[in-house]
Amino acid sequence: MGKDDTAKYTIATLGSHSALQILKGAKDEGFKTLIVSTIDRVDFYKRFKFIDKILTVKSFSEYEKIESQLKDENVILIPHGSFVAYLGAENNKKIKVPYFGNKAVLDWEQDRVMQRNWLKKAGINVPRQFDDIEDVTFPVIVKTYGAAGGKGYFYARDKQDFKKKIKAFKTEQYVIQEYIIGVTLYVAYFYSPITNEIEVMSMDRRYETNVDSLGRIPLHGQQGLDIEPSYVVVGNQPLIIRESLLPEVYAMGERVVETSKKLMGGKGLFGPFCLEMVITPDQRMFVIEISGRIVAGTSLYIGGSPYSDLMYDEPMSTGRRIAREIKMAIEKNELEKVLD
Ligand code: ATP
Repeated sequence: MGKDDTAKYTIATLGSHSALQILKGAKDEGFKTLIVSTIDRVDFYKRFKFIDKILTVKSFSEYEKIESQLKDENVILIPHGSFVAYLGAENNKKIKVPYFGNKAVLDWEQDRVMQRNWLKKAGINVPRQFDDIEDVTFPVIVKTYGAAGGKGYFYARDKQDFKKKIKAFKTEQYVIQEYIIGVTLYVAYFYSPITNEIEVMSMDRRYETNVDSLGRIPLHGQQGLDIEPSYVVVGNQPLIIRESLLPEVYAMGERVVETSKKLMGGKGLFGPFCLEMVITPDQRMFVIEISGRIVAGTSLYIGGSPYSDLMYDEPMSTGRRIAREIKMAIEKNELEKVLD
């Protein structure tokens, strides 16, 4: 295979999350593009000229029904955050069309215990967790299993507060985690199995309601009001990190990838991933979560980021970087290295 083979492939994804960024990047790299859209969003996606084809479904859970059509189009599917949210990890594993990424990562990611072990083995700081309420050092954040997008969390300042709030949660499964007071930072990486290099693509912070707006009301204005912090994501803001912390940011990404190869056997984690962290006043970086695919905050940088600009002389979004990786793999006849 060679350079001209790019146009034989169609890059496709589900119409949600970071689909626009992914398909814009694919088009910039010379691929055909396809979106699987629910009926209500078809008119919206038609606005974008870089989308060549739209396949319509009633809901994403119908994915299986259209899989044969995707095969006919010679599709490479790019997963994003909505894949697990709408299809579930098990159905992701059943996807038969070529899929960019390693599906084995899904198991390590969705199980909070496995994810924590992976991070710890990689020498990453993680917030303390408590098994017994009697041992807790407050404040804490309590995370129910299956929480997503910051929903299903609560903050507890002391034991009494915890006992009151846990009653409102119907689930038995939750973790009690030390609440890290600091600045949240989401670092978007890309690891290439073709070049064997780790790249920092961009950084952002989520803007979460209402926790990011509570500081706008002075304490005396809040007193007596029943306001609880919540962590529901409404969007993302850009942020860069001080340069003295950047070497450790790169090293953390490298350790996470190297450890994944040992833990998962074979390929490990590759492509885009994100370390979601909180940085404390003593400049320690605590990772609260790892995402093994493109995160929505990268869409801030469809035209490139301060970090991608250091490595590329052209706008390089994470979406475009994915397409570039596939293109390089096609040229080198190494597609098996990036597909599952
Ligand atoms: P997603 O799966 O969409 O990434 P999630 O629901 O798993 O999201 P997290 O990213 O783990 O959520 O956390 C949501 C928010 O909760 C964070 O952005 C941060 O503001 C806050 N948070 C989580 N853990 C901690 C912690 N240990 N200390 C302080 N804040 C935290």
